[in-house]
Amino acid sequence: MAEYAAPGQPGSVVSYLDRYDHFIGGEYVAPAKGDYFENPTPVTGRAFTEIARGTADDVERALDAAHGAARAWGRTSPAERANVLNRIADRMEQNLEALAVAECWENGKAVRETLNADIPLAIDHFRYFAGVIRAQEGGISQIDQDLVAYHFQEPLGVVGQIIPWNFPILMATWKLAPALAAGNCVVLKPAEQTPASIHVLLSFIADLLPPGVLNVVNGFGVEAGKPLASSSRIAKIAFTGETTTGRLIMQYASENIIPVTLELGGKSPNVFFSDVASSRDSFYDKALEGFTMFALNQGEVCTCPSRALIQSSIYDSFLADATERTKLIKQGNPLDTDTMMGAQASNDQLEKILSYFDIGRQEGAKVVTGGERADLGGDLSGGYYVQPTIFEGDNKMRIFQEEIFGPVVSVTRFDDYDDAVKTANDTLYGLGAAVWSRDGGTAYRAGRDIQAGRVWVNNYHAYPAHAAFGGYKDSGIGRENHKMMLDHYQQTKNLLVSY
Ligand code: NAD
Repeated sequence: MAEYAAPGQPGSVVSYLDRYDHFIGGEYVAPAKGDYFENPTPVTGRAFTEIARGTADDVERALDAAHGAARAWGRTSPAERANVLNRIADRMEQNLEALAVAECWENGKAVRETLNADIPLAIDHFRYFAGVIRAQEGGISQIDQDLVAYHFQEPLGVVGQIIPWNFPILMATWKLAPALAAGNCVVLKPAEQTPASIHVLLSFIADLLPPGVLNVVNGFGVEAGKPLASSSRIAKIAFTGETTTGRLIMQYASENIIPVTLELGGKSPNVFFSDVASSRDSFYDKALEGFTMFALNQGEVCTCPSRALIQSSIYDSFLADATERTKLIKQGNPLDTDTMMGAQASNDQLEKILSYFDIGRQEGAKVVTGGERADLGGDLSGGYYVQPTIFEGDNKMRIFQEEIFGPVVSVTRFDDYDDAVKTANDTLYGLGAAVWSRDGGTAYRAGRDIQAGRVWVNNYHAYPAHAAFGGYKDSGIGRENHKMMLDHYQQTKNLLVSY
């Protein structure tokens, strides 16, 4: 066991500024209206820094800077941009612990996750898009003897990006790496709950980019996000967040006829077929582990396996084993490397989850384990902790249909294959899903029949840069990751040339 020193304490690997302004045109710029807001850590509930409260004026300044840089950055060669992305990845690797602790402190998530998953994945995304942009080739086709078609991929220009708080650095990276690789300039608005993580990242990488290529405007959704998404000066808006907010973003973007990518909410089914339990071996063990993934990142994952569907013939025994496994999840100080589950990201999020504990009980769902706020005592008693919670109920209940975004799984049974697929698809969402079966045919068929952009088969929660990610139905529009992501940040120029 090791425990990282809390930021502000002797020996901490992170030092925050007392306040963070906007980052515009390569320098820190105070907010036009002069307002700041306090930023608390979910670990203890106490504020640790102040953040500039952005408004439309700040967004305009950031857009000025981005437009000033767009032509030169857009004309750099893919090799030059790839070098910058690789150097960003190097710097992140050199400062891995600082980034990991910063995100843990601001978001409340366990440091072992940020050290071993979030930040390494973010680093790999920069490296992946550095490779992809160099490998991209245009097309030349001879139409006839005298006519030739040339196709060029050009950057869109200046793009807006709005991100959530659940994986601050990784969500920024998913958007920044392809946008910058394609030669765009960016105005990024972090979530109001987790802006400091982005500024810690900037402190390591900002000098690698020409001024104006990457600009960050802090602030709240309506005050800073809306002017960005509504601006006629952006060529695209990329958004990750709630489905209700995604609808608004589409409305804003429609005024200017600009493309959107929307990565929205989910209510992912985790489907366990009976053959999973045909032997108590390593496969069975892996399936139980897959069940407990509902508590990964405190359940604050858009693809959280928040609905478990278990075949009736193994229902009781599998749920009993999965419950035992859930009780082994070690909750504690997020800065302790043994901790598996930390704090919820904000007091609002904590309150929302507690309200769903009440809703589930009122609907007649049975609490199998958990269902309460967790008091970890001492310095942590002001933090935002809840118990990992298993409900048993019916797929029609609100706890099965609405995104709770906490460490809560709602469990129900199914009789046969058709019942499993029908229940899995009985949701507005279509982001993630998993199927568990030893039978390749069943697993493949269910993987194809479930309406979700990502279906894990006999595993859960892997996010490699080269696998496309995104939603069906109300879970979004477009894809992130994979080289196809470049299509979302480029436009095609055709020259039709007579000789
Ligand atoms: P949210 O929609 O409340 O906020 C997301 C971002 O949008 C924040 O930066 C916020 O300030 C901004 N925003 C809010 N209202 C706005 C408005 N009117 N105009 C412009 N910007 C506005 O979402 P959240 O609570 O921060 O994040 C959790 C949600 O994100 C969950 O629904 C989760 O499923 C989803 N999510 C999806 C993915 C994915 O890849 N599909 C990944 C992570 C999170």
